[in-house]
Amino acid sequence: MKYKKKENLNARPYWKFAYGKKKKFKGHKNFHHRGNVKLVGKKNDMQECKECHRILPLTAFTSGSLRSDGAYYLKKLCRECQTKLEAEKREARKNAPPKPNYCDSCHKNKKLEIDHTHGTIKVRGWLCRNCNSGLGMLGDNLEGVLRGVIYLEKDKNKIIEILK
Ligand SMILES: [Zn+2]
Ligand SMILES: [Zn+2]
Repeated sequence: MKYKKKENLNARPYWKFAYGKKKKFKGHKNFHHRGNVKLVGKKNDMQECKECHRILPLTAFTSGSLRSDGAYYLKKLCRECQTKLEAEKREARKNAPPKPNYCDSCHKNKKLEIDHTHGTIKVRGWLCRNCNSGLGMLGDNLEGVLRGVIYLEKDKNKIIEILK
């Protein structure tokens, strides 16, 4: 690693250097403003909603997490789908089983959120954030998760062994 020994890395502007290499955050040029809020993307960009698959202008999406340059990423779901999802979650929470002590999936983490089957108000269980977003990113279904399993372990007998 190339850096001056006495330099305080915690104070060095990370947007200029990273691990001793001059770094260009090309993506940081990609932003626009909505009122006073800085958002990722160009004003006239279109984005596909992950839920209804309509291709919509960015104004149909609300802001989500923060990028390191202070611009907010936009949510992947359009406002309509987002609202529907929130309502489902609210309904699901009403008839949810009591919160267990540990995550229903990893059985390790204690900070839990409700997991429901999308498009319904059926509660599937209580998951920690890691398991919830992990499973979601793998497609929220058995096929996606199993694809990941088979990628990690080609030997199917070993997989069966671990399940036992
Ligand atoms: Zn949508
Ligand atoms: Zn978990």
